[in-house]
Amino acid sequence: MLMNAPLIDPFARAITYLRVSVTDRCDFRCVYCMSENMQFLPKKELLTLEELERMCSTFVDLGVKKLRITGGEPLVRRDIMTFFQSMSRHLDSGALDELTLTTNGSQLARFAEPLYAAGVRRVNVSLDTLDEEKFARVTRWGRLTQVLKGIDAAQTAGLKVKINAVALKDFNEDELITVTEWCASRDIALTWIEVMPMGDLGNEDRVGQYWSLKDLRTQLAERYTITELSERTGGPARYVRLEETGQKIGFITPLTHNFCESCNRVRLTCTGELYLCLGQEDMADLRAPLRSNPKDNAPLRQAIHDAISLKPKGHDFDYSRQKADGQVTRHMSHTGG
Ligand code: SAM
Ligand code: SF4
Repeated sequence: MLMNAPLIDPFARAITYLRVSVTDRCDFRCVYCMSENMQFLPKKELLTLEELERMCSTFVDLGVKKLRITGGEPLVRRDIMTFFQSMSRHLDSGALDELTLTTNGSQLARFAEPLYAAGVRRVNVSLDTLDEEKFARVTRWGRLTQVLKGIDAAQTAGLKVKINAVALKDFNEDELITVTEWCASRDIALTWIEVMPMGDLGNEDRVGQYWSLKDLRTQLAERYTITELSERTGGPARYVRLEETGQKIGFITPLTHNFCESCNRVRLTCTGELYLCLGQEDMADLRAPLRSNPKDNAPLRQAIHDAISLKPKGHDFDYSRQKADGQVTRHMSHTGG
């Protein structure tokens, strides 16, 4: 009885949004996300595409309405389109409201059309700079022209594009207006993300430094008229509209606590660990109940319910502390951004 009930956590928050990392691998090595010589997980640790489908479908059965596929780079996982194609049946049935992804854009030129055909309508592309040399520096292995081609292909295919840019002091601060205007000219929404203390951050030279979004916003206000929007997504994003361009700008400040009370999301890693909060280590292993019961989903459903009943009230990042408490050492590419 309980097993088919929707997912409600102990703080009465309905869990309707699942982010799924489908791989820990990536064709870039962004300095704030990965080290140059990353050790990736052995293949057998990863959920197979069939297991990912079963896992996600079970969450949909339990009331998840929005699925965001991420990574690592989701589009470098082999045969990933079969996963999207399979998930599209939940869109057709109305069980799922949205199937979407966050990507670095490198493979979009190839996959924009099949993604649209699978029912994807929006895509978040991570892009921190429009300068070729800086792009190569921050992603280490990426090429800007390839990503720009991917964005063009996405728009041509009918996908709504949103850009996510990580705010990095002394790196893209001087591009605030350029990036804003570029997005406005292409009808692209833009969200700035405050850099989080994850992975190898701090070991890098000059790229990867904290630029507060409060400061970024003040700089925007010197140029544009800003109207606060009341829109909330249950996550750490806040939105404003720039009156001069009409575009929506988002601010993601994961370090603040101001969204925890409305948090509607959990994250699944590519190995089947369910993280209940971006800022905490609490997690549950869902791979074991999935793998040991290939024909029966009941143990998996029970394990998901058990995990949700442990979702913490909020998280605890804090830059003011010197020690590692409140810091999370796992890489974003593992839990998915
Ligand atoms: N590879 C895809 C991409 O880059 O969009 C999806 C995975 S990536 C981990 C998801 C998002 O996390 C990206 O927008 C990236 O900029 C962001 N990210 C990675 N490390 C971060 C950090 N330390 N602080 C803030 N955002 C981070
Ligand atoms: Fe790859 Fe995305 Fe991490 Fe950059 S942010 S290294 S593109 S997973």
